[in-house]
Amino acid sequence: MIFLNEVTLKINKQHLKAYQNGYPLILRDNLETWRDDLHEGDLIRLVDSGGRFVAKGYYGLQNKGIGWIFTTEEQVNLDGSLFKRLIHKALEKRQSLFNDESTTAFRLFNGEGDGLGGITVDYYDGYLLFQWYSIGIYHYQKEFTRTWFDLPFVKGIYEKKRFETTEQASDFVGGTEAPLPLIVKENGINYATYLNDGWMTGIFLDQRDVRKRIMDHYASGKTVLNTFSYTGAFSVAALYGGALQTTSVDVAKRSRKKTAEQFEVNGIDPEAQAIVVEDVFQYFKYAKRKGLSFDLVITDPPSFARTKKITFRVAKDYPELLREVIAITARHGVIVASTNYAGFSLSKFTELVEKAFNGTGRSFAIRETYRLPHDFQVNKSFNEGNYLKVLFLELDI
Ligand code: SAH
Repeated sequence: MIFLNEVTLKINKQHLKAYQNGYPLILRDNLETWRDDLHEGDLIRLVDSGGRFVAKGYYGLQNKGIGWIFTTEEQVNLDGSLFKRLIHKALEKRQSLFNDESTTAFRLFNGEGDGLGGITVDYYDGYLLFQWYSIGIYHYQKEFTRTWFDLPFVKGIYEKKRFETTEQASDFVGGTEAPLPLIVKENGINYATYLNDGWMTGIFLDQRDVRKRIMDHYASGKTVLNTFSYTGAFSVAALYGGALQTTSVDVAKRSRKKTAEQFEVNGIDPEAQAIVVEDVFQYFKYAKRKGLSFDLVITDPPSFARTKKITFRVAKDYPELLREVIAITARHGVIVASTNYAGFSLSKFTELVEKAFNGTGRSFAIRETYRLPHDFQVNKSFNEGNYLKVLFLELDI
């Protein structure tokens, strides 16, 4: 049993309503009182100015916020019985994915969206990947992990400690080790994944619906440019959907091998596809010089990236990126504009897209909008958690 302190802190008057309505993130600025002797993992009892109980959370430092609320019931604790309840509720919500034989990778527990912020759990064909976002929540690692090991379908567990600043191989926690690569399925497509290879596994599970939509509706007979392509997951989906040819561009050297591997595990000849290891902005110059254009262009940049030549910040640079993309999109082509930047609301992102088209002489219509798929549960009181925004733009309408 972990022994941690429980301290009582007062919520500011102006933030009381939010917490009463289920806002899950504890922010230092929202508190009226403070204790300097708090340790990560300690429990925080939030009360109103009259000392009445409002909610309970834990202290854990993340980029944003100092902890997460896990209950509005005084007698509930951060222990095995709560974990069991939350996990079973989370599993029920993913029943349709468990029943879908064509998909074996998805999110099982999405932090505050499933009632406990600071921890996510992904399912990779029987293997679980935990991501811990603070030292505070990691104090509860043993108890939380034990609850998952009790489930019959769990073959093995890996974890990533996101609170550590340097990238490291994830740790194997227990059970049996996953094969290398671990091949998972998503809507019938194979993806090679590695659960112990740095921060990323080879696939971003939150784009499942977008990949499917591209495969089913947008790829057939098209030439496709996939920028910031990572392991080429969007390219593979497009080829399944009958794309004529794909070009995948990513600045990371590893991307060539990783993309070739994604093609190979699907019986696609990598030699017949273009895999370009280059800064996308360099590639745009090259494409312009050569007069290249593509029917479908996918652009899903990281929120922030630094290469030798440039620093890319979605917050500032998205319109510029999109202008480059527009310039090499064929007449009547489609752009899939995506961002996982939590700092943009959907309307702000839409505004930026409109701004990017200004002066290009090209018209467009937003044909479809995608947000997180349902396994990435979002807390209704915490919109920032709904970070993914994907617009399908049809040009020259
Ligand atoms: N769209 C991908 C995920 C992108 S992850 C998918 O759905 O799988 C972000 C990728 O952007 C990383 O692989 C990183 O190497 C790449 N990247 C970052 N800055 C870049 C740049 N300036 N040019 C090309 N690739 C870049």
